[in-house]
Amino acid sequence: MGEIFRGSRQLAKEDERDYTWGRWQQPGGTMRRAAAILTLAILGCFAQAAELIPCPDCEQLASPRAVMCPHCGCPGDAIRAASANAESQAVMEAQRKAPDFGSSLVWVTSDRGEGVGVCIQSASQLYVVTAQNLLAGAQSLTLVKVTNGESLPYTAIELASDRDLVRLPVISTNLLPLTVSSGSTAGMALIHVASNNTVALVAPNSEIGKLPTGTPFLDLATNVVQILAAANPNGAIDLASVPSWVSVQPLTYRIQTALLLEARKDHNDPAALLKRLTETAWLTPFLTEQAVRVIGEIRREGDSP
Ligand SMILES: [Zn+2]
Repeated sequence: MGEIFRGSRQLAKEDERDYTWGRWQQPGGTMRRAAAILTLAILGCFAQAAELIPCPDCEQLASPRAVMCPHCGCPGDAIRAASANAESQAVMEAQRKAPDFGSSLVWVTSDRGEGVGVCIQSASQLYVVTAQNLLAGAQSLTLVKVTNGESLPYTAIELASDRDLVRLPVISTNLLPLTVSSGSTAGMALIHVASNNTVALVAPNSEIGKLPTGTPFLDLATNVVQILAAANPNGAIDLASVPSWVSVQPLTYRIQTALLLEARKDHNDPAALLKRLTETAWLTPFLTEQAVRVIGEIRREGDSP
């Protein structure tokens, strides 16, 4: 645990003009918007028909919920068992082809939580991508390489404009970026970091509740398709279709997300809270959306007897 926190940097107090979060430093006041669109790598060969799985007897497609194959009458249980077996073999094959996933994965630690990030590349810049909720309200944030425990400096914080993702530009000679794909999630594998710091691919749905926030979901060609934003499969967020990445001041981001966290708790002075929420110039549409939701909750609470 001590290794993970090594090199942790504190975000300066709110009343200081200059601040650091990671190695990024910038005089207060300016907010730069970066509209870098992720380079998409479309991989057509895994865009198979959604949901349907092949029957082991007649090789035609059947629903995974079918009682029996509509073409040959093969029992549904046999179809599902054959499909699960084929899937785990495909995952093993992907692992064999690209065994060095440790160099693509990073531990992400803040005072709000722990998770992982995955290295991707866009326009010759390397990034670590993870879920924004690891950073929300956090005063410190540290990236540590999974392979050797080395602290990894980052130079900015860029929020996905419309979803719970963040990317951190990094400079590293020995991080291996994975390609981003907007392909089908069918047949996708997961990167799983075990407690002994080994990295492996696992089949979808296995141990999904135990996976850390930020876990990348891959297709069978080991392209990143989604990022786990919460510890459930519905929390997986598409990475390829982010409309823009907004570079933000860490301090401003912390203040705004701390306000959102505060607003979700019990509150003594809803009027003052509503004033702060409505007067905030939210950094992204995603944060605006959360603010609107929590404002609605507080108002409904006020209406109830
Ligand atoms: Zn059949």
